[in-house]
Amino acid sequence: MSGQDEILNVAVIGSGPAGYYTADALAQAERPVAIDIIDRLPTPYGLIRAGVAPDHQSIKQVARRYAETAHRPAVHFIGNVEVGRDVSVAELLELYDAVVLATGAPADRRLGIPGEDLDGVVGSGAFVGWYNAHPDYVGLDLDLDAGAVAVIGNGNVALDVARVLAKTAAEMEHSDLAAHAAEKIHRAPMQDIFIFGRRGPLEARFTPKELGELGRLERCVPLVDYHDLPPPDAAKSGGRRKLLARLWDYAENDPNDKPVRLHLRFYARPVQVRGTTRAEALELERTRVEAGQVTGTGEILTVPCDLVVTCIGYRTAPLGNLPYDRRHGHYRSADGRVADRLYAVGWAKRGPVGTIATNKPDGREAAARILAEATPAGRAGRRGLDRLIAGRGIETVSFRDWERIDAAETRAAAGLQPRRKFARIDQMLDAARGSGQTVNPSGGPARK
Ligand code: NAP
Repeated sequence: MSGQDEILNVAVIGSGPAGYYTADALAQAERPVAIDIIDRLPTPYGLIRAGVAPDHQSIKQVARRYAETAHRPAVHFIGNVEVGRDVSVAELLELYDAVVLATGAPADRRLGIPGEDLDGVVGSGAFVGWYNAHPDYVGLDLDLDAGAVAVIGNGNVALDVARVLAKTAAEMEHSDLAAHAAEKIHRAPMQDIFIFGRRGPLEARFTPKELGELGRLERCVPLVDYHDLPPPDAAKSGGRRKLLARLWDYAENDPNDKPVRLHLRFYARPVQVRGTTRAEALELERTRVEAGQVTGTGEILTVPCDLVVTCIGYRTAPLGNLPYDRRHGHYRSADGRVADRLYAVGWAKRGPVGTIATNKPDGREAAARILAEATPAGRAGRRGLDRLIAGRGIETVSFRDWERIDAAETRAAAGLQPRRKFARIDQMLDAARGSGQTVNPSGGPARK
């Protein structure tokens, strides 16, 4: 075997946490491995850039760790290449010894209720993408001339969405909230934000720290109806006890304390969005929870609202005819092995649960499995991919190019902002080439 034949060539599709932890673990193998991380955007980091809330900058710091991985000699970032459009999984399997699907779960789950397609109803994937300057959602035509907003779901994404809507411009000054979103959010005449859970406080998936942030907002007061709260000693774990304690505190709050009220409402499941062309009200059914299961009581409440944001989880976008579990919305695999030499990690493997850190052991496990199962077969690897995509006229973005985009965004930051994000791919490519040094000075996305 020549030296080239002994290298294990691995393609990782997706540069979010799952992709980076897998690449990092592979790069530490004791045998030669070449890892190419392919992303459809010119920017790396997936959910860290486009999912983590813009005011949670300390969480985004983990990207520094991923940059160290990207600088390892065995690792290469290839941005602006969309698998499924620019190159197929079958082609990657020809070129690489193993291919890893680390594509996350970017598509919104649907509620499946009448009125869901009215204007003014939006999923958290789209809404969070919009305020995080994801190029797919920069053009989202959202009317935030809303007095009342309904947020559906009792997970941390619902808390992120409510908090980003509730914070003032001053509270967001350390954030990288997209300029186009800041302009709309901070002018919105919001007075009431509702967070609806179909089950009770003991079943809510909030974490205490994130719930606690709602208690420290400048213009917004969190409120809970104490009739919905079990006694504090009903909690079975320390985390749940903290959560209940916060909710009991919020039940004591005075609604007139601050101009915006954030109502945490439990035992209410959405049954219909009312409106003629756009959302005007949300209809919910009161529920009961028995042994963790939800039952409707038949009692209907109607809450007028102009914007409905569903935060009820995500689905992996199916790719070609790869085995896909429609019910759970992720690839079908035998503990991560989708097919011969094809693996899934992170949310693409197990669905949209767990924190960023959950991906670290996942990545290690996936890497160990690949190293145990895949063998170098003299495949062309990156040289072959470079040839294929050059032949198709696709402009790729290297990690060095991304660092130019990063520098341009950092330079464009105003005041205490960490960066001012490009929201359009052509702006990113200009910056990658070193020619687009400025972000549209009007603050909004530049027009094409
Ligand atoms: P999640 O934690 O799974 O919460 C989803 C919520 O949607 C649940 O309350 C669920 O209720 C509800 N839901 C689902 N289908 C529904 C329906 N048809 N009608 C009404 N409600 C429905 O998901 P997530 O908030 O999207 O978060 C995803 C993952 O990212 C989680 O692991 C989360 O902790 C993590 N995350 C972490 C942070 C952070 O650490 N700061 C921030 C954001 C996200 P049921 O429980 O009744 O199913």
